[in-house]
Amino acid sequence: MEGGEGALALQTGAEMLDYLVRRRAQMDQHELEWSVVAARFAQTDEYDELGFNSPIACLKAMCHMRGGAAADRVCVGEELERLDTSAEALAAGEIGFPHLALIARTAVACGEKFDEARLLRHARKESLVKFEHTCTHAKHAADPDGVVDEEKQGVEARSLTFSTADDGSVLVKGILDKVGAGALRTALEPLAKRDGKDDRRDYPRRLGDALVELSMNGLDRPNLQVTTSLETLLGLAGAPAAEMEFSLPISSKAVERLACDCSVTRILLGSDSTVIDVGRSKRTVSGPARRALNARDGHCRWPGCDRPANWSAAHHVVHWIHGGSTNLDNLILLCHRHHWMVHEGGWQIVRSDNGRMLTIPPVTEFQRLARGPD
Ligand SMILES: [Zn+2]
Ligand SMILES: [Zn+2]
Repeated sequence: MEGGEGALALQTGAEMLDYLVRRRAQMDQHELEWSVVAARFAQTDEYDELGFNSPIACLKAMCHMRGGAAADRVCVGEELERLDTSAEALAAGEIGFPHLALIARTAVACGEKFDEARLLRHARKESLVKFEHTCTHAKHAADPDGVVDEEKQGVEARSLTFSTADDGSVLVKGILDKVGAGALRTALEPLAKRDGKDDRRDYPRRLGDALVELSMNGLDRPNLQVTTSLETLLGLAGAPAAEMEFSLPISSKAVERLACDCSVTRILLGSDSTVIDVGRSKRTVSGPARRALNARDGHCRWPGCDRPANWSAAHHVVHWIHGGSTNLDNLILLCHRHHWMVHEGGWQIVRSDNGRMLTIPPVTEFQRLARGPD
């Protein structure tokens, strides 16, 4: 076997790099073979005999790997039949195994609309992070609802815990969905900038300081940087996802919500990729219009919710993108959670004849959101 003695004999940086690149390509090839067997193994019931819940759980435990890594490999093995060209690119060292895993995941998400040649062109020249964005765009174009479902799962998985140590310091541990995390980073980054060249705080320290500062001072809504096409904002079939600073690309549903109360710097790209609209526009509900709305509604209008006005968004009952006006009769205050439920969550909120607000739950899967307002 190559390596061992041979590897120790390498002297120059160039020799080492040559070795590393070659060995990595061999390891990727081994990953591919491993994936084929993993997919076949997943078809057997050996995992069940051993008392595991799933083949992935079994591989995770027996092969000492993360569940996601095991699942990626089973997916590659299962999809390999229609990934001929990508497998060749892997063998030629043009892409790495993580690229191939992303391609396989995208193939599953896109179904019949999967375009291997197009993705592979990107994979050959893009870093993994960039390529992950490309794959999200492809998934969104093929199946926008699937991307919304992923985002819903991300929101469901949000959690934050505080545990206090003996000395009183607190360990903060949390998981955020991509939009939530993007919003948090947008709020923190400006506060985490170096304070002159004598500022020797490292980046994690500055982020920590920024979080505290934000909590002390601020309910000023961050101005999120979102780049979207008109097609995406309109939710048209085949539209790519939208780009959000500090986040993976986000669904048109999420953009629709963010644009609804204009906590977004809209950058709409025309068909020739020119910027046609930057910054807050007349659709922003601010100044006197916002004060009138705050005075009329007082708090979130979701039945039973009393989140105050400055924690709420100005929801357009008919979205401005569909011609809705920014007049008071087309606006209601909704807190963040209820605004989310109306856009991504599929709920409807309507005004009854006697002026009361009524909510209608979505008919489909997310019935467990149907518990009452917080
Ligand atoms: Zn809205
Ligand atoms: Zn509310």
